[in-house]
Amino acid sequence: MPVLETSMLGIAQREGILEVYTHDLRDWTDDFHRTVDDEPYGGGPGMVMKCEPIFRAVEAIGAMDSLRPTIVFLAPVGEPFKQAIAQEFSKEARLLLVCGRYEGFDERTFTLADRIISIGDYVLTGGEIAALAVIDATVRLIPGVLGHAQSCEDESFSDGLLEYPHYTRPSIFNGVDVPAILLSGNHKEIERWRRMQSLERTQRLRPDLLKGEN
Ligand code: SAM
Repeated sequence: MPVLETSMLGIAQREGILEVYTHDLRDWTDDFHRTVDDEPYGGGPGMVMKCEPIFRAVEAIGAMDSLRPTIVFLAPVGEPFKQAIAQEFSKEARLLLVCGRYEGFDERTFTLADRIISIGDYVLTGGEIAALAVIDATVRLIPGVLGHAQSCEDESFSDGLLEYPHYTRPSIFNGVDVPAILLSGNHKEIERWRRMQSLERTQRLRPDLLKGEN
């Protein structure tokens, strides 16, 4: 997938910090049409991802390395993906992300999962974009991937708050000034201002974060 070759993900792979492999579930089918889906029991629209290819694939891919992978299914019914989960994943030596299509997985495939993860309260066509979001958020937290370690410490959600506002040159744009405190050179006051901005913005835009609802 080209997106895996660009920016931080590409650099991390070229520097040997990360290896990403994609697999086609159809490689673990045994019929002529390489079928991975079938009609739902009980009727209804759409098709359901069959158990057999998923069980075979997870077992075979798991055995490709002596380290057992953490097996993560991507599904809207999963636990909401958060920065804290990305932090946990960034410490894992090996992740196996399982992407669905159609109406989703046969329920019995979830017995393979260590985690079931949703990237948000909406339905994508397939798990690949969800997997890319998980990979991207996770990989940038692996030590050595981002140039400046502090850039992820200060970011939104890392301390349960939204991040403070950023500004760069010019100091006046379209008649709007950069806040004077940022030009003062007083690092202690700048830090205090950023903290206040962070709190104010979180209160205004995401009060649920302050109430610990997330
Ligand atoms: N019928 C399923 C439901 O209502 O929960 C949706 C299936 S969706 C069309 C097909 C696949 O896309 C899912 O099996 C899953 O792998 C992926 N997917 C869709 N939305 C997702 C989300 N919010 N988070 C993670 N994966 C998602």
